Amino acid sequence: MARYTGAVCRLCRRAQEKLFLKGTRCFLEKCAVVKRNYAPGQQANKRRVKLSNYGLQMREKQKVKRMYGVLEKQFRRYFSIAARSKGVTGKVLLQLLERRLDNVIFRLGIGLSRSQARQIVRHNQVYVNSKRVNIPSFTVSKGDAITMKAKEKGLNKIRENLETSKDKTLPSWLDFDQKSLRANILRLPEKEDIQQLIQEQLIVELYSK
Ligand code: SF4
Repeated sequence: MARYTGAVCRLCRRAQEKLFLKGTRCFLEKCAVVKRNYAPGQQANKRRVKLSNYGLQMREKQKVKRMYGVLEKQFRRYFSIAARSKGVTGKVLLQLLERRLDNVIFRLGIGLSRSQARQIVRHNQVYVNSKRVNIPSFTVSKGDAITMKAKEKGLNKIRENLETSKDKTLPSWLDFDQKSLRANILRLPEKEDIQQLIQEQLIVELYSK
């Protein structure tokens, strides 16, 4: 399964906002967006480029893609599903991304970043409705129950992550019992649940050209 393996902090610096790609470090002073709040590249802190409309649309699309750890082909596929659906395209697109299993594991605090959550899923530790699911892009639905099964080492790591992310707010579309490590999908996510500013209409305009 293809994924981006380059330096991730420069992706946040390019977006000029935190995309939370590294776990604990993202909340510390060491975060590259805090330390070097300018675009990556040798000359980038010297020149400020005014972006065209197209540039803004492109930048927003790149930001969302990187946030969720999705590559272009898969992102386009999400967009075409959203465009064919009955709902508002931008809203459905965000819902599809938010409903990815790796994102849910990240939102629950079981993984400190989406890439760590993806690894937890790939390592066969996640069960949806009592069936093992090791596909990070699996789309959860309303009413699904998510449980965890891991060896002692894996469980200790999960508990450690939950302790680290104890101040994180659990989105209201999810219900999570940390003791039994069981989560339920109460409803589909809304844009307000995403906790990050996304201008999805820019992405819709970009792909609708
Ligand atoms: Fe982005 Fe996290 Fe790196 Fe900060 S530490 S730049 S939020 S990935």
